[in-house]
Amino acid sequence: MEPEVVKEPEVAIVGGGITGTVAATTLARLLPGARITLFDQGRGLGGRASHRRVDDGEVVAPWARSSMAFDHGCQFFQGGDAEFREKILDPWLAAGLAAEWQGKFAGAGDFFGIGSETVYVGVGGMHTVTAGAAQMLECNHSNFVARCGVRVGAVARAGDRWALSGVGGEAAIHDSKLKSSDVEAARAAAALGEFDAVVVTDASAAQESWHRASAGLPEAFLAMSKRVRDRVRVAMFTAIVAFEERVPVPYDASSFQDSTLWFAAKTNSKPGFEALEKECWTLVSTPAWAAAEVERVPMRDPATGAFIPQSPEVLEAPARALLDAFAAAVGAPLPAHTYLHAQRWGSAMPAPLTHGRDADGRSDATKDVLGTAFDASSTEQFAGLGGGGAGDEDFVDGGDLGLYYAGDFCSPRPPGVVAAALSGKHAAEACAQRLHVSDVRYS
Ligand SMILES: Cc1cc2nc3c(=O)[nH]c(=O)nc-3n(C[C@H](O)[C@H](O)[C@H](O)COP(=O)(O)OP(=O)(O)OC[C@H]3O[C@@H](n4cnc5c(N)ncnc54)[C@H](O)[C@@H]3O)c2cc1C
Repeated sequence: MEPEVVKEPEVAIVGGGITGTVAATTLARLLPGARITLFDQGRGLGGRASHRRVDDGEVVAPWARSSMAFDHGCQFFQGGDAEFREKILDPWLAAGLAAEWQGKFAGAGDFFGIGSETVYVGVGGMHTVTAGAAQMLECNHSNFVARCGVRVGAVARAGDRWALSGVGGEAAIHDSKLKSSDVEAARAAAALGEFDAVVVTDASAAQESWHRASAGLPEAFLAMSKRVRDRVRVAMFTAIVAFEERVPVPYDASSFQDSTLWFAAKTNSKPGFEALEKECWTLVSTPAWAAAEVERVPMRDPATGAFIPQSPEVLEAPARALLDAFAAAVGAPLPAHTYLHAQRWGSAMPAPLTHGRDADGRSDATKDVLGTAFDASSTEQFAGLGGGGAGDEDFVDGGDLGLYYAGDFCSPRPPGVVAAALSGKHAAEACAQRLHVSDVRYS
C-alpha cells in the first residue's frame, strides 16, 4: 500500500460560542494547513456570550449604531487563571477584543466574583470575543470559515472520516417558530461536508432527539459523553430594559441577596458604550427562581416531549418579575422604560461541582422537570463561579474516533467563560496532536 500524505486535515467545530471560537483559534495556530469550518445554528456567533442592539424598537446587527445595547447572556469574565490569562485573555486584550470593565460595583451576593476580582468584557459587547476573534481568524487563516445559521443534525461515519449533515434557514434557529415535527424532519436535510475530526461544544449536542440542538452524535461517542448529558443544568432568565432617564443608584452593577434578582448591570458603563443614548440594563434572575419558572412554563410538551420555543407571551411574566425585583432593590421609583424584553436560558451553565453537590452536580436542591434536572439552590451555593483552578479531563476525548466534546458542561472547573475557553483550548490541542501524528493515511 502506498502511503497517502494528508496535508490539509479538515476539522469541523460545532458551536461558535467561547469554546468553539477558542478551539478554532487554537487549531489554526497548531495546524496552519488545516481547513477549519465552524458551524453555529444562531444568526451570529456568541452563544451564551451574546449581545443585542436595538434601534427604533427594531433589533439591529450587533455591530450597528444603535440607541440601545445589551449583553443579554454572559456579563463579564475573570482573568486570574494563569493559563487563561497568558494564552487567551492577553491575545484578546492585545487585539482590542477585550478590556477591563472599570465600573462601580456593589452588592452583598457573589455573582461570578464581581467586586472582589478584576473583571473583563468584550469591547462593544460580549460577542466581540467570539465573533471578533472569528473575524480575525477569517482574515489571517485562509482555510477558516464560519457558517452561521446552520444546525448540525447528524454526524455519521464516511470511511475513516465524518460526514456532517444539517439544516439552514428558519429550521436551524433554536427558537424556530416552525412546528416541532417540521424542524425534526429537516434535521439532516443538507450535506455539510466530510471531516477528519469534529469538535462539538454545545451542552445539548449530546441530548436525545427531542432537543432541537441535538447534533445526532454516534452512539459510541454519546456513551463516552454521558457525564455531559447527566450534568445538572442551571437555568436563568435575563431581562433587558432601556430607561429614558438615569436609574437613581450609585453603582454600575450590583449583585443582590434576593429570591428573584441575582445581578444587574448597566451597559453604558462597559467599554465601547460611552455614547449610548438610553440607559440600558441587564437583569439576571436567580437559578432558583428560574427553575421554578421552567416548572411553571415547561420547555417541553408534557404529552409529546417536543421542545416548546420561548414566545413573547411566555417571556412577559419573567420580564415583569425581574423589573419589579429591580425596582424593589433600588428602593425608589424607576424611570419610564422604552424597551423591555426577556430571555430564557434553559442551560445557562452546568451546576458547579461544589457545596456538597455530587459528580453530576446533584444535591437536595435538584429539581427534575420533565426529565431534565435543574439546580434550584440559593445563590450562596453558587459562590466561586467563573474562576480557574484544577481542571483535569475538562473535555471528552473520543480517541481514535476523532470526536471531541468541549465546553463548560464538560469541565470540573467552576462554570463560566474561563472553564469553557480552557476546555476548548485543550480539546483543540488533543485534536491537533492526533491529526499531526496520523497525517499519513494508507489507501
Ligand atoms: C445569563 C447568563 C449569565 C452568565 N454570566 C456569566 C458571567 O458573568 N461570567 C462567566 O464567566 N460566565 C457567565 N455565564 C456562563 C458563560 O456564558 C458560559 O460559560 C460560556 O459562554 C459558554 O460558552 P460555550 O461556547 O461553551 O457555550 P455556548 O455559548 O452555549 O455555545 C454553544 C453554541 O453552539 C451552538 N449550537 C448548539 N447546537 C448546535 C448544532 N447542532 N449545530 C450548530 N450549532 C449549534 C449554539 O448556537 C451556541 O452558539 C453566563 C451565562 C448566562 C446564560
